[in-house]
Amino acid sequence: MFVQVALPIPKRSLFTYAVPQGMTVAPGCLVLAPVGRIFRTGVAWSLSSEPAWREGEIRQIAAVLDETPLLGEELLRLLEWIAGYYLCSIGSVTAAALPGKLEFRRKRRVVWCEDAAIDRLPAPLHTLANRIRNRPAGLSEETLAPHRRELKALLDHQAIRFLTSWHPCALPTDTAPETIPLPSPPPPTLTDEQRRCVQTLCAALEHHRFTPFLLEGVTGSGKTEVYMQAMQRCLELGRQALLLVPEISLTMQMIQRLQGRFPDTLAVLHSGLTDPQRLRHWQRVRSGQARLAVGARSALFAPFANLGLIIVDEEHDPSYKQEHGVPYQARDMATVRARHTEAVLILGSATPSMETLANVARGRCQHLLLTRRVGGGTLPVMRAIHLGNPALRQAMGRDGLLSPPLREAIAATLGDKRQVLLFLNRRGFAPTLLCYRCGQAIHCPNCAVTLTLHKNRSRLLCHYCDHCQDPMDICPSCGQLSLFQFGPGTQRLEEETRAAFPEARIARLDRDAVSHDARHLQTTLEAFRDQRLDILVGTQMTAKGHHFPGVALVGVVQAETSLCQPDFRAAERTFQLITQVAGRAGREDHQGVAIIQTFDPGHYALATAIGDQAAFTPMEMAFRRQAGYPPFRRLALLLFSSALQPEGAAYCQTLKANLPGSADAEFLGPAPAPLAKLRNRYRWQLLIKEKEGGRLHRVLGPLLALAEKLANRRIRVEIDVDPHSFL
Ligand code: ADP
Ligand code: ZN
Repeated sequence: MFVQVALPIPKRSLFTYAVPQGMTVAPGCLVLAPVGRIFRTGVAWSLSSEPAWREGEIRQIAAVLDETPLLGEELLRLLEWIAGYYLCSIGSVTAAALPGKLEFRRKRRVVWCEDAAIDRLPAPLHTLANRIRNRPAGLSEETLAPHRRELKALLDHQAIRFLTSWHPCALPTDTAPETIPLPSPPPPTLTDEQRRCVQTLCAALEHHRFTPFLLEGVTGSGKTEVYMQAMQRCLELGRQALLLVPEISLTMQMIQRLQGRFPDTLAVLHSGLTDPQRLRHWQRVRSGQARLAVGARSALFAPFANLGLIIVDEEHDPSYKQEHGVPYQARDMATVRARHTEAVLILGSATPSMETLANVARGRCQHLLLTRRVGGGTLPVMRAIHLGNPALRQAMGRDGLLSPPLREAIAATLGDKRQVLLFLNRRGFAPTLLCYRCGQAIHCPNCAVTLTLHKNRSRLLCHYCDHCQDPMDICPSCGQLSLFQFGPGTQRLEEETRAAFPEARIARLDRDAVSHDARHLQTTLEAFRDQRLDILVGTQMTAKGHHFPGVALVGVVQAETSLCQPDFRAAERTFQLITQVAGRAGREDHQGVAIIQTFDPGHYALATAIGDQAAFTPMEMAFRRQAGYPPFRRLALLLFSSALQPEGAAYCQTLKANLPGSADAEFLGPAPAPLAKLRNRYRWQLLIKEKEGGRLHRVLGPLLALAEKLANRRIRVEIDVDPHSFL
């Protein structure tokens, strides 16, 4: 017998091994296989009587680590699907799907282990070890030698700890600091809207068929309650349910609510846990002990046997896209998994993505709506402040960030003993030239995205098509001498706020502040929620799902930091961010106010967010269709980098010269990436854009093969299918 093994190696294939006489292995089992001079753990993928690979010597797998497959048939098919779609190796997808490291590097020093350690080994290894330990009479030293060698190579303490950690009998018992469930009040009486949604969802659950829904509900409309009741019904029907949330650290409140409602059946899967904790939750799912799971992105791979419901909360959130390693979109793959398992899929959001809205329009996804806040709280009053106004500019000075009207509103709010949230986006920012009079950034004539300013080269560049031009002084839209170099400044905002409101208790929350201190995020959010802070200055981290009962004023300091970005989703992101962050203002019993400072209050993303929200989608869809972007045409990015600038540039030329013509897709670039140099590597990207009626995936495989053939070993080539970041 031969077995194909997925190894965590970034190669696009499975590896063929022979199964030694007397060893049994099933697809999905964890095995130990020799690779070069070391052993690596991998997952047995498929068995065959003929080797799938004939070149060179076929080696034997060293051991099967557990008789029960680690991954069931359904997950194996999902991982295969993902590897095919994102053009990466099954081994790397598998490694990304498992809760612990699938790899250990053995130390040179081999320690022969004590008996006690052998007794803790998983059964198959245990048998092997015992066979050698108790050398049965009649077994010659010669027969034993190969086993002994194998075992010696395996059994140092580190390896044993690693291997046994995968074994269910070796579950760590620590329950150390996880979240404390909130005491659970009985489920509330549903509002009429909620009840209608729950009824529809429950009916679908009973059909046991793939049924996708978009649950669109304004912030505070009670979506979580709808999720929980659908989960409850799913459990009653004997199936399991999975809830994906964007970033666990930002959704602790929701997890506590779930733990309160489902204390015994819930597993929590996220990267904030230690490896043993995560593994324990994962094993609880695998063993059937936990029948519900909540987690970020990678919880998508929770090893449920009979998944009946998948919920993706905040489905529009960009963090569902994994940016490193295997660049998968967890929401999209949740859809694939739900289809494979004939499950109900709920995509929930207050500001759905264009992709999901397009699926609704195409009749592929049913639309459920929650239009009102539970308890009748009103949505905030929105107001735009035009920063281009000369009087304001004069009053604010060159570097000022807080306009006089915003300052007045802050002072009034503090006077009422209410809280203020000041928001400044920084995610995915690239510097640009902006006109302070008309608010226009300079756009690429081909691609309808903002050009990025490269200071040292004093050039304006399009990172989609490599269009390049000199920076100008005069704004091409309004003809005035009013262009300036635009960039965000969270620290500067904090300083200015402190100077203006010296009495107020102020904290700042962004990646920098959080990276210095892991507890900073939770403690700051808690302090703000408990109203021990007056003003919170923050980035997108503060925009999501929190209940801040005391916030009466939200200030969006510079709407342009998300709007003028080299990304075709810039308008969508801006609309979503403003809607989300404004939703933080005025919950329960008081009217909230949101003030949006902008150079271009007429931009449709802002005008609709502030005024007629329903008008945004048709306008954005028209733009996407006309410019040929998703959800109408697919994109992929081929990324390559080199430590040597000239070598990378030469490779660009070669690649460009060799690009084939295609009826399926057009190739734009290669162009330098907006982050043209990262970790000492120079970066370029080639945008691949599906043609009308074409099929993107027909070109991707051959293109990647071509790019790799043309590259030397110093050039790294990667592919990103359905990219979300263009930096
Ligand atoms: P969303 O997820 O849509 O922002 P939540 O589900 O978090 O909204 O609900 C907002 C608040 O309203 C929560 O505190 C929740 O406990 C409460 N809530 C939800 N549904 C009801 C209901 N039917 N009756 C009373 N309170 C509810
Ligand atoms: Zn362009």
